[in-house]
Amino acid sequence: MNSIKGGLINVSNRLPVQIRKHAGGVRLFRSSGGLATALNAAWQEQPGIWIGWPGMAQDPQIQPLLRKASRGRPYTLQAVSLTDDEVAKFYAGFANEIIWPLFHDMPTRCNFDPAYWEVYQRVNHKFAQAVQETAKAEDFVWIHDYHLMLVAENLRQAGCRSRLGFFLHIPFPAPDMFEKLPWREAILEALLRFDLLGFQTDRDRGNFEDCLRKLLPDIVVEDAGVPGQHVVRHGALRSLAGTFPISIDFDEFANHALRPEIGESVKSIRKDLNDRFLLLGVDRMDYTKGIPERLKALRIVLERFPELRRRITLVQVVVPSREEIPNYKELRHEVELLVSQINGEFTQPGWVPIHYMHRSLSREDLIAYYRAADVALITPLKDGMNLVAKEFCAAQVDERGVLILSEFAGAGPELRHGATLVNPNDTPAVATAIREACIMPLEEKQRRIRVLREIVRGHNVQRWARSFMQAAADIPQPPADQETKVEESTPSRTTPGVALVASGPRRGMSFPPAYGEPGTRALTWLARGGD
Ligand code: UDP
Repeated sequence: MNSIKGGLINVSNRLPVQIRKHAGGVRLFRSSGGLATALNAAWQEQPGIWIGWPGMAQDPQIQPLLRKASRGRPYTLQAVSLTDDEVAKFYAGFANEIIWPLFHDMPTRCNFDPAYWEVYQRVNHKFAQAVQETAKAEDFVWIHDYHLMLVAENLRQAGCRSRLGFFLHIPFPAPDMFEKLPWREAILEALLRFDLLGFQTDRDRGNFEDCLRKLLPDIVVEDAGVPGQHVVRHGALRSLAGTFPISIDFDEFANHALRPEIGESVKSIRKDLNDRFLLLGVDRMDYTKGIPERLKALRIVLERFPELRRRITLVQVVVPSREEIPNYKELRHEVELLVSQINGEFTQPGWVPIHYMHRSLSREDLIAYYRAADVALITPLKDGMNLVAKEFCAAQVDERGVLILSEFAGAGPELRHGATLVNPNDTPAVATAIREACIMPLEEKQRRIRVLREIVRGHNVQRWARSFMQAAADIPQPPADQETKVEESTPSRTTPGVALVASGPRRGMSFPPAYGEPGTRALTWLARGGD
């Protein structure tokens, strides 16, 4: 088995801590992030550096605070500072008003503002610059998610020789969706500069490969000899595209759920709900999560199956998210209107059908709800994975809860044995699934949840990190002159009349100037007739 000889450099939009202005100074906050947990497994074997945005604009106090926060961690925290305008156009704009809705198949929610693309390129260049200042040839650089799809291209242009991996935490869309993106070829070509590309599901990896075939000429996709992995060749470029479904620390959730104080909370939740059948929804306030559709399905249950009135309660936890973006404000309004309409219509003395919480729960409360629930209703319209589904399975230590899961969640294919899969748009079918869960015999529930718990236990986050790192270790070290070779032999972009030409200094040299600056990479996409 090969192994990475150098360190692990992890790069994500946000650091696992956030610094904010507080009482005239700045203060460090732990950011809620599954990514930190997920990566702990990789860090244990491969100490290194975590590069990301610390949550506020440049301030001399940031680096000392990060140094302090790095103590006791297997990685050193390193900040990339962004201006307020960059955060607005790169993060809220390009990432969350273009890529997020498009990659979740919701193109009408996209705002294809060209100014966002300019800033996205500039910020990716900044991140790459921070990596280039730190990375050694023997290190493995692991870039995370849709915010940073151009980093490898920038790094290779700067002569970086480290192995470069990318993991997409969200879905990758099919060609008919992806091709709506005005910068589609540029993004595909930039992604091909990574040596290793990780996707959540075969669906996402397959969509990526279909987009390559449709939009780039001379693409070759070959079997890599490992299930779920393909080699993609484009000119002199070679990348490994693999399926690596992310997961959770099963033992951590299961052991936490077994603690006596969680047992006490479970009793008290069930007592407060008069031992009614507890349906649980836990989501960020996001239009991809299918919250209005789920509420409408509950309304159908209450209309069609009056015998279930007073016997079921939906506890819907909605964690506030991206509140500065208009789409999200409208969604909150829609959700709260539906909750109040349904409660208004069906509430009776001593029974309210929906208990709605618009806040983040403590870990203890969340695990207690997972354990107490009779049904987890997890019905996103589309989702990269959905960790809540896996956390619910792990925390179901009494083994009697039913998982109703959207077939469009990344977790769908993995958990199809054991879960009740539903199409979240088919609200009458979701209503029927809820009713069936309510009347399901105990032995059937036990059989199903045991199957689910075994799946999640076996495919835990430690396995996810190990398999990605193993694939990374098997990648040959890029040659010293890779950049020159690639530019001589890479086919041009498919956009008619446009060619990629070399720019900036090469090999072992300083970083080229940022996109959009005179004489830069942005200006190297020249009309064919003009070069
Ligand atoms: N979560 C949380 N506090 C809450 C509710 C949920 O920290 O009050 C966490 C939950 O434990 C899970 C994450 O938020 O790890 C949600 O991850 P998921 O993959 O389900 O969806 P995402 O929000 O990443 O789209």
